[in-house]
Amino acid sequence: MTAHLVQYIYIVSAALFILSLKWMNHPASSRRGVFAGEVGMLLAIAGTFLAFDVHNWTWIVAAFFIGTAAGIPIAYIMPMTAVPQRTAMSHACGALAAALVGTAEFYQRQPHAATELPGFVMVALVVETLLGFLTFTGSLMAMGKLQEVLPQRPITYRNQNAVNFTLFAIAAALAVRLVLVPTDTFLFPIFAGLALVFGVLLIIPIGGADMPTVIAILNSYAGLSACAMGFALGNNLLVVAGALDGSSGLILSIIMCKAMNRSFANVLFGAFGQVQAKAGHAEQRPYRSAGPEEAASILESAGSVIIAPGYGLAVAQAQHKIRELYDLLMRRGVDVKFAIHPVAGRMPGHMNVLLAEADIPYDRLFEMDDINSEFPQCDVALVIGANDVTNPAARSDKTSPIYGMPILDVDKARTVMVIKRSMNPGFAGIDNPLYYLDKTLMLFGDAKAFVSEIIKELPARVSA
Ligand code: NAP
Repeated sequence: MTAHLVQYIYIVSAALFILSLKWMNHPASSRRGVFAGEVGMLLAIAGTFLAFDVHNWTWIVAAFFIGTAAGIPIAYIMPMTAVPQRTAMSHACGALAAALVGTAEFYQRQPHAATELPGFVMVALVVETLLGFLTFTGSLMAMGKLQEVLPQRPITYRNQNAVNFTLFAIAAALAVRLVLVPTDTFLFPIFAGLALVFGVLLIIPIGGADMPTVIAILNSYAGLSACAMGFALGNNLLVVAGALDGSSGLILSIIMCKAMNRSFANVLFGAFGQVQAKAGHAEQRPYRSAGPEEAASILESAGSVIIAPGYGLAVAQAQHKIRELYDLLMRRGVDVKFAIHPVAGRMPGHMNVLLAEADIPYDRLFEMDDINSEFPQCDVALVIGANDVTNPAARSDKTSPIYGMPILDVDKARTVMVIKRSMNPGFAGIDNPLYYLDKTLMLFGDAKAFVSEIIKELPARVSA
């Protein structure tokens, strides 16, 4: 009876996880998606307690309180710009949990290894522990790089890929031996140690700025580890949840790579961001700049404005000021839209989240492919803290590291205004020819401060 009930609970829980992913696809339903995921997880935990006789609640209760005491403040204290490292931290914890469960199962079942550790279970256990341990240290490295407690630049040395491959091959060989002879327990710590070291070596040659993509890949590994744990424990819900996690992480990393026109191999082994030759280094090219007063009068007399936000918006936390500017212009009859590049900022959906926080209507946010055709008819493209995602070199300069990356066609607007603090490059470390066009005005300053100045310059009286 209880066993049946547990299976029903697991089915509802799995359905909620799937709905959660579906609903999180759109800002309008994303809160419902988060809630569905939470209820699904609650049901999964309740079902698991029902399914097993818990011998000792002390550890479970202690873990519950420690996790809650750490998790709630982290959720509130960490700023939005630190979400990638927070995600890395939760992957590290999840992966470590999976790896430790796998380790415990391996040793607990040893007295009856012949019957309890058959080939199938051992394959699941070695996959679980290998992915779990390497994701644990890999995620810690990713977190350290994002938090800048570790060097952001790629750390490379001669024959690095060969060393990594050899290490992985030894770990894989030990895994095969353990599957064939599970009683060779002395091999397990060496195998686990190699997986931990491999996680570090895999991540250190990758530049800090590529970490968001790496985190999506590590998310996928952690999910696959949990999926393998489901097979080892014979728990169907873990198999489903792990597979959903693993595949969604993989799909996300593929989307990110496509939007940057980079391959998986280039992200993982390309040491992107190591030494970027700065195109603007050799010559000083002329550009035009303007103050808030001129910017305000241009915006005021425009019929249509498309705002292209980027990473600088997140740094400046300018979303609420942008909302004020949006309201003022819309009330004056200016048609204001937002152009969202899939990899603007430093994590997927970064701009959507920030703009939603300031209650900017979703129907004013347009994906790159939907809005690019509108730039030629648009009076003003207002770029706020974006750089690479507007760089026309991606279209024409074959030598550019971002060549082939799809960009927002802001340079096709009648006038372009760019708010940023200096002529410094962005993530890719390269100059942006957009800034030297005759139609471009550079508006130097912090995004929040500059937008506030523009708002002050716009006459207070509004027509409606
Ligand atoms: P970006 O190319 O990094 O440029 C951001 C610009 O913001 C900088 O040039 C900086 O110029 C300016 N800025 C910084 N702080 C500012 C402030 N307080 N006020 C005003 N401006 C400020 O950013 P992006 O155009 O959004 O492009 C994103 C890049 O990240 C792409 O190359 C993408 O491939 C990469 N990436 C994205 C993701 C993702 O998931 N979104 C993941 C991995 C990599 P100043 O210093 O002169 O102010």
